[in-house]
Amino acid sequence: MVPPRIHIPDEPSSNPKLLLAVQSHLEDGLKRTPETLHIENQADRLRAARRVHADRAALHGVLSLARKAWGEDVGGAINRSTEGSVTLELVRGSIVLGRVQVEKSTWGFRSNELSVHELDLALRTTRSDDKRRSVGGWFSPSQFDVYPCAARQAYQYSGTERREAPIPLPLAKAFAAGTATHKEFDILLERAFGEDAFPNLFIEDKPSRFWGSIDGLVLINWKPVLIEAKSQASGLFHQRRRGPDPKWAVQAETYQGMMGCEDGVVVVINKNDWSMKFHPTKLGARWSARKRRAEAIAKMVENGQEVPKTPGEYCRHCPYIWTCQPQSLL
Ligand code: SF4
Repeated sequence: MVPPRIHIPDEPSSNPKLLLAVQSHLEDGLKRTPETLHIENQADRLRAARRVHADRAALHGVLSLARKAWGEDVGGAINRSTEGSVTLELVRGSIVLGRVQVEKSTWGFRSNELSVHELDLALRTTRSDDKRRSVGGWFSPSQFDVYPCAARQAYQYSGTERREAPIPLPLAKAFAAGTATHKEFDILLERAFGEDAFPNLFIEDKPSRFWGSIDGLVLINWKPVLIEAKSQASGLFHQRRRGPDPKWAVQAETYQGMMGCEDGVVVVINKNDWSMKFHPTKLGARWSARKRRAEAIAKMVENGQEVPKTPGEYCRHCPYIWTCQPQSLL
């Protein structure tokens, strides 16, 4: 019997000072962005630094696509930036190949000189190099609560072959923009916390059978604090005034549980302008509940028992639908 997913309300942070410390470190780190050090007014400097990070994430992300599309010798620079978009100039040696306008939240591309279709194609053929997803014996925190079907978790645990259905281009762009934002966030985390920052760590916890990558761990007064970064397009960012997506907090808590880290902070970044929101997470009863559920699913798989399926709308995107419901694909 698989214990049901339980809904436990967010646990209040016992340490609001810690949340403020993370916020002020990150904002100070932003202000120390080399390109903006000459600006004396602190508010202006923060605004400009945010812009720099958003533009740079777009530049580096799109540049890697351009290199896939037109060759590794393509270089680029930010040509002009406006609030919601940035124009990138792509060059090969001293020859300007053309300019591409990139909408920072969604990676919509426009160009009069280059075929942006080539960039879209490069994006569509980019595959995750995370091979562990198809290795059995583990659960992934980012998948475990997002998809409520226990059978899906069992397929992952048993190492069943995954087949990723192609995702719609706008969604692929949003993910790619998110990945570029996360890379830029790694740089910020190191600048903000110096030697007390440990960005982008791979962690696994054998007893609970969870593995995954965390965005960062920082030390505040020698106390470890998990940092979970999430990026959003501007529209969504401004909609969520009342708090983070509950799934993010659960994911953060799972990482905290894996590391025995009492406190965490979910940092939500607006991909357009790098304004940020901060939400505390506290290790609590949800971690124990998830461990019990994971253990029960693992035991059923190991004993050869059938794990219950909970079909839903999400089945369309399930990488195991080929094994689970082959008839639905006919
Ligand atoms: S296809 Fe649906 S029912 Fe089957 S494992 Fe995936 S999510 Fe569960």
